[in-house]
Amino acid sequence: MSLSKDSESSMTAISETGMHKGQNGTGALTDKGAPARTRKQEKAGEQDAKVSGRALGRMVEAFMRLPGIGRKSAERLAFAVLGMQKDEAAGIAQAILDLKDSSRYCPLCNNITEDELCSICSDSRRDPAIICVVEEPSNILVLEKTGTFRGRYHALLGALSPLDGIGPEDLKIEGLLDRLRAGGVTEVILATNPTVKGETTALYLARLIKPLGIGVSRIAYGLPVGGDIEYADENTVQRALQGRRAM
Ligand SMILES: [Zn+2]
Repeated sequence: MSLSKDSESSMTAISETGMHKGQNGTGALTDKGAPARTRKQEKAGEQDAKVSGRALGRMVEAFMRLPGIGRKSAERLAFAVLGMQKDEAAGIAQAILDLKDSSRYCPLCNNITEDELCSICSDSRRDPAIICVVEEPSNILVLEKTGTFRGRYHALLGALSPLDGIGPEDLKIEGLLDRLRAGGVTEVILATNPTVKGETTALYLARLIKPLGIGVSRIAYGLPVGGDIEYADENTVQRALQGRRAM
């Protein structure tokens, strides 16, 4: 199960779906063909083509497809590549292709892996009784950095979004239910995003999971550590109050 059908469209696929925040909500790493060029990209491509040559313009355009990279950053990166030794630049190009060729979804939890099972599913020290459900594999990385969760994960590869036509069948829900029906799981932590889509997804899953006799919990919301209540928005403060715990 390779993530790309061909390496040529690899960068296209990553940029089009934002790797982990797909516009279609599924966050799929699958190729959807060549993306329509955005106005931002067209503008950059044209301007650079006029000013500095086609190859440089294409490089700028390619970088602008990455999340968080605007025109100026893309230009800076493109010129940095231009200033590299050829083998150094080739190393970057090869790393991108290797990433796309070797990475796949873990068949159990949909985490990104290069092996048969991901490092978490194949780690016998991880508690199989607790499954933390997230929207995207990139969320697993964030949770793992905290070092506090010792259970397993399940990435849905998106969130429910009826307005965008994303229904339960578009997410990896059946795989989650299979894992739960197999037994041994006592708690499911719903760690979908605190957004309308994430909440909708969490409510939907809770309704499916509770009848199986498995405990369902939702991650708490709160104020940012080091933050000031004065600067928090009302919804966040309200959630923080609701999610309070005894001391
Ligand atoms: Zn896994």
